[in-house]
Amino acid sequence: MALLLTLGISKATADELDRRSELKVTWYGVSTLLIENSKTQILVDGYFTRDRFRVIGGRFVPYEIEPDIEIVLSKLKSEKIGKFGCDGDTSTSCKPKTLGLILVAHAHYDHALDAPIVAAATGAKLISVEHSSILAKNNGEVALDNSIGHLVDVYSKAYETVGGLHWESVQVSHISLPNAQATHVEKEGDFRITTFQWPHLFRSLSPAKGGAIRPSELTTLPTPIWNFRQGTPLAFHIDHPAGTMIIFPSAGKDAVFDFKEAKLSADVVLLGIGGVCLWIGCKSVDDLWNTTVRLTEPDHSANVRKVYPIHWDDDRVPLDGETQSDCHVKKRFYAKPSRVIRDFRWFASHADPTVDVIVPTPCEAFYPFQD
Ligand SMILES: [Zn+2]
Ligand SMILES: [Zn+2]
Repeated sequence: MALLLTLGISKATADELDRRSELKVTWYGVSTLLIENSKTQILVDGYFTRDRFRVIGGRFVPYEIEPDIEIVLSKLKSEKIGKFGCDGDTSTSCKPKTLGLILVAHAHYDHALDAPIVAAATGAKLISVEHSSILAKNNGEVALDNSIGHLVDVYSKAYETVGGLHWESVQVSHISLPNAQATHVEKEGDFRITTFQWPHLFRSLSPAKGGAIRPSELTTLPTPIWNFRQGTPLAFHIDHPAGTMIIFPSAGKDAVFDFKEAKLSADVVLLGIGGVCLWIGCKSVDDLWNTTVRLTEPDHSANVRKVYPIHWDDDRVPLDGETQSDCHVKKRFYAKPSRVIRDFRWFASHADPTVDVIVPTPCEAFYPFQD
């Protein structure tokens, strides 16, 4: 403290700096994110399998997938997630953090595939939306969505006897989001998490199907990836004493959510950009920016200072490379790889030069609220 005072830094400022560095985030490709402070962890998606095409019965079967439980468990250990936090640490002072919640963006395989496995391995609670008006509108029928809950049912039978998974202790919080403005709040340690609907980036990309997972289609594993129907797509607002952030895992541009009415603002945005210009046309990036970064404040009065682009990588390439012991992602095959980030940076610098665009390094923690 004496040193800080001689440097002219007040205690308040030092405390403030300490507080801002209390929260760190680690990105594992797509929209898998570990958000944590010194005691509590929250995981978005937890998609670690990042599976390749499977060969079944000697036949090359594209798109047939199931979770790779070995990969998932090894990542939980190496990344010190939940009760695996002290794995390999023999010191008596090591205390694992609590993984309280797994927030699944929607039920497509690149978000939901491993979430029930992580829940069964750690005891963390899963969020499953019970009803969605968006699904009802898209399908022209009233559809009930309990996609994540259904996955837990199927997995608990398929992997009933797999060691280290405890299906009897899996908790699913069935939440209701009856309209586009509805919110659901969960508290976990110092975190306050608000979940709300946010449209998917595009609706009809095959094999990523819309609608809710159908119990009649997805009964056993492995299963074709199109059986992981989208379900209700979600976004998450995270409120912590260190700061506020919004995660838009798959950022559709036609959202109608009113942040003012919901009394939600953010210092930082984590934005799924996919192949931005490719999917929605460069001109429409403006709409995306308005809804997700300006939070539809025409006078730019939103507080967002930093944007971290996510979900621009190839979701089928494993995080561990052949020669690297560390972690990497590959840009998506469909989106003129080198251009995705460049296009987005160019756009951002013209839209709001004061907002920083920071590309996260996979498996490397960052502190979004530090300057
Ligand atoms: Zn999706
Ligand atoms: Zn996705």
